[in-house]
Amino acid sequence: AKDSGRASYHFYTEQMQIDAHERVILERDLRDALANHQFILNYQPQFDIKTNQIIGTEALLRWQHPTKGLIAPDIFIPVAEVTGLIVPIGHWIINEACQQLARNAEGFNNLTMAINLSARQFFQKDLLTTIKDAIAESGVLASNIEFEITESMMMMNIEETIDTLHQIKSLDVQLSIDDFGTGYSSLSYLKRFPLNKLKIDKSFIDGLPNDLDDLAIVQAIIGIAHSLNLIVIAEGVETAQQYDILTQHDCNEVQGYFLSKPLTSEAAGKFIKKYNPNLNS
Ligand code: C2E
Ligand code: CA
Ligand code: CA
Ligand code: CA
Repeated sequence: AKDSGRASYHFYTEQMQIDAHERVILERDLRDALANHQFILNYQPQFDIKTNQIIGTEALLRWQHPTKGLIAPDIFIPVAEVTGLIVPIGHWIINEACQQLARNAEGFNNLTMAINLSARQFFQKDLLTTIKDAIAESGVLASNIEFEITESMMMMNIEETIDTLHQIKSLDVQLSIDDFGTGYSSLSYLKRFPLNKLKIDKSFIDGLPNDLDDLAIVQAIIGIAHSLNLIVIAEGVETAQQYDILTQHDCNEVQGYFLSKPLTSEAAGKFIKKYNPNLNS
């Protein structure tokens, strides 16, 4: 179903010049999707390497299209971003993810929920209110919510980013840099961002264990994270060898198909209870 979604929509994102008519159709479909509840979130578990327990999940957006099947976010988020539809969609994502955390957290006090923010959302004035309201309505602990912002987004407008990050941080939520290593941030800026976590991009994990350059980069990122007192998580971990290398090099957390694919909300709830039985408090 994911492949058919790619096939029927790929021209929207891959063509240099998006045909105005096609854009109007996708925009209309996206609006309908929001009104008709066709968006769902999947949740991918994240694991602590030392304890081998689930510490939280990342919320990942899917579009359950009535005729085209399940459509992956890479296909439609770019258009949602240009049209501004990402703002109401993002609002829904934040609310839904907080509600899910409230369900996951029954009996598990320290589970986190990581939520991706797009650039348009991040620079939106009412983001703070949206976050505050979602936390209040769901009753979750703010400190168990984590926002993922990509490194390239942070570099678009550094002073505004630092300011916005501090405002979000003042709500007591956690902040992490997504796709770290792909976006040219300098260490002097890293120090100025109020961060909790670095997320090593999957492209570097892919090279493990054979590519020595990737290994050096992964080691360097883990080193940077530790020296700045940040938690470091590896994404896209697909094999036991990759997992072992990350353990040897003191990476704190891992996420990837080796441990679990993204799961539906129901499956995620069950998986957590089965995997973390002794965390029941
Ligand atoms: P991302 O934030 O870097 O998310 C990680 C992507 O890697 C996800 O793809 C996840 O399913 C996939 N992944 C995780 N582990 C593995 C693995 O071991 N192997 C492989 N091959 N893939 C793995 P997904 O869900 O298709 O999302 C793609 C991108 O779409 C995300 O990249 C993010 O940039 C964006 N996205 C997804 N959900 C949201 C959302 O709620 N809001 C926003 N703004 N963007 C989102
Ligand atoms: Ca992410
Ligand atoms: Ca990522
Ligand atoms: Ca990515």
